Amino acid sequence: MEGSYQRIEHLGEGTYATVYKGRSPKGEIVALKEIHLDPEEGAPSTAIREISLMKELDHENVLKLLDVVHTETKLMLVFEFMDKDLKHYMDSVGNHGALPPQTIKVFMYQMLKGIKYCHDMRVLHRDLKPQNLLINSRNQLKLGDFGLARAVGIPVNTFSNEVVTLWYRAPDVLLGSRNYSNTIDIWSAGCIMAEMYTGRPLFAGSNNDDQLIKIFRIMGTPSEATWPGVSRLPNWKNNFPPYPPQRLEQHLPQMDPYAIDLLKKMLVYDPGLRWEASRCLTHPYFQDLWQPAPQHSLQMPANQLHEHHLQQLQLQQQHQQQQQFIRLQMQQQQQQQQQAQQHPQQLHPGINPHPMPPHGQSGWPNP
Ligand code: AMP
Repeated sequence: MEGSYQRIEHLGEGTYATVYKGRSPKGEIVALKEIHLDPEEGAPSTAIREISLMKELDHENVLKLLDVVHTETKLMLVFEFMDKDLKHYMDSVGNHGALPPQTIKVFMYQMLKGIKYCHDMRVLHRDLKPQNLLINSRNQLKLGDFGLARAVGIPVNTFSNEVVTLWYRAPDVLLGSRNYSNTIDIWSAGCIMAEMYTGRPLFAGSNNDDQLIKIFRIMGTPSEATWPGVSRLPNWKNNFPPYPPQRLEQHLPQMDPYAIDLLKKMLVYDPGLRWEASRCLTHPYFQDLWQPAPQHSLQMPANQLHEHHLQQLQLQQQHQQQQQFIRLQMQQQQQQQQQAQQHPQQLHPGINPHPMPPHGQSGWPNP
């Protein structure tokens, strides 16, 4: 059966697999991912089951898994073919790797939509990084390898024994937490967002401890006060140097205040307070993507124009829902504040990790 897919050229060596450009029996160009399985693990029935579940994932921002072929020696995943990964895109299109702010916004929106869909389907990625975000010629971004980390295990080494990059790994994972929450993927998305602005990884550690220290130097060393339960995590050390938090704005002067504000919601230590993908998508950083179609869209070819208008309509509907959600939050906050003024003893500081602003203020930094 494997013979019915033909390899055309070698594309690269991934964390789990060797990737080839190939041709399907129907003549379609596809990406063939040959997974390296541990020979001592025996028949990887759980991996096959997990991977087969990934075939059910169907979203415009998630790379489509078309087929799974299993032989005695290897497992081959057949994916839709894409032009380049985000790392390659940043290196070839970016200015020393840095991308234009509007491109970053459109990529972040698509990335978060893909993450939200997978989380809604109860699938975590666990290993998001620029190399497994794929981009096609229409600047559509799709998340690759979703669910693979769970099926194959979080990798330590690649097939070629290169050490896997830890730069995008959430502090809860680095500290050995076993209770993975959805928001491990949001930490990675935040690191990728910062990197798109600067062209450089935000936290470029060389091993687990060094990665933690690189994070602590900028975000401050966490404590029981800022992250309850952190000192009970397996890899926590009481002698971690106590760095104070720095202002992210200083490290990322390229980012506008909305972008920085969203990033701060994604890079929260406590995984329970870190924003979920659905909430990130409602952030006003994205508000100009929710506006009606611009005039220049009228110069598009008819088929693209139709698709563009459909997308705009969907975005407008989402925008209205999101605005209503934000208004509701503001109202609730005002009510809470009024109650607090009337009954000050009932105030519980710190209960709401993302307080909305007082009446009359927009609540978000000025763009
Ligand atoms: P990965 O295993 O995802 O890290 O992929 C290894 C290499 O193959 C990277 O250079 C990717 O750009 C490339 N690649 C992975 N998936 C695809 C795909 N669906 N289409 C085209 N290239 C891909």
